[in-house]
Amino acid sequence: MNRPTGLTRESYRAIELYAPDRAPCRIDLSDNTNCWGVAPAVEDAIREASISTVTRYPNLYAASLKEALGRYLGVPHDRIVTGCGSDDILDSAIRAFAEPGDVIVSPDPSFAMIPIFARMNGLRSVTVPLTSSYDIDPDAMLATDARIIYLCSPNNPTGASLSRSAVERVVERASGVVIIDEAYAEFASVDLSPIALENDRVLVARTMSKAFGLAGLRIGYATGAPALVAEVEKSRGPYKVNAVAERAALAALGDGLEWAREHVIEAKANRDRLTSELERRALAPIHSEANFVLVPIGNANARARHMRTLGVAVRPFEGLPGISETLRASDGSALRISVGPWDMIEAALAALDATMGER
Ligand code: PMP
Repeated sequence: MNRPTGLTRESYRAIELYAPDRAPCRIDLSDNTNCWGVAPAVEDAIREASISTVTRYPNLYAASLKEALGRYLGVPHDRIVTGCGSDDILDSAIRAFAEPGDVIVSPDPSFAMIPIFARMNGLRSVTVPLTSSYDIDPDAMLATDARIIYLCSPNNPTGASLSRSAVERVVERASGVVIIDEAYAEFASVDLSPIALENDRVLVARTMSKAFGLAGLRIGYATGAPALVAEVEKSRGPYKVNAVAERAALAALGDGLEWAREHVIEAKANRDRLTSELERRALAPIHSEANFVLVPIGNANARARHMRTLGVAVRPFEGLPGISETLRASDGSALRISVGPWDMIEAALAALDATMGER
């Protein structure tokens, strides 16, 4: 591996490259993407993209996509900013709203990239454990006096939605910006995005990587007050949504919308069925409002390795705070299983069963 030299920024040197095991696997239920694929309208849009779509620069700030998202969300387009995945939105927002040295607070466990983006931008990352019901502790988060408060609902990796009352308490009392990451919004029963319309300090980040199946095209967006999204757009910079991705996204939000809605319904049904199947095995999966289920279970890393040899990739976690009290996982060990077509889930359950001797 290349070691950093004295030429690099000092605060960067201790940061490791984010490089999880992404080796291909026959059935990949590890990253919460759309296992059904994409709408036929999206396939058509990609196939029919002209060569000039590739040779010319895309629109600077994806104006057509903002309009289409505005119609989808019922929000004026000057309240929307797009990006190269919601990763880009979150990174740009952190850069826009905090000075190096400022504090960003996020729940623990939550989206693993937040402490990384924080450090990349010179911020201090502070975490506050979730409560025993997998909700945020609003007062503990507020007590950090952070410049940015990051919330994720439904939360990754727990899958649980945050309670509206806890989020509202944070928003009412925060002194800085509150980012609400709703990457899994389409699968949830709680929609927190109206809070961004009512409060000038709230940015709601979303993605087309999950419900719309466009993870490989990297399209994220956020809504918020016009002044807030304008700062994120400036920090993000031009041309971040490529021209083919923008065309595909327009198709997904147009003729492809019904496809996405139907598959969200199927994902939710399969998620609840997967939860029951895990419970039938005397496990205690966390009630999920996303397109994945987190199930506390011992020896997650070894178990995931075993499942991979059987052709199924799931995401293992060890040392997750708040998971340790559960019956079967004394070390905060858990598996996160993405939801897909039922035959994929059946294969995952069979692979999981094969590891049960390892408990
Ligand atoms: N937020 C959360 C909570 C996520 O789980 C993910 C992807 N795993 C992202 C943001 C980033 O999504 P993308 O960059 O693909 O839009």
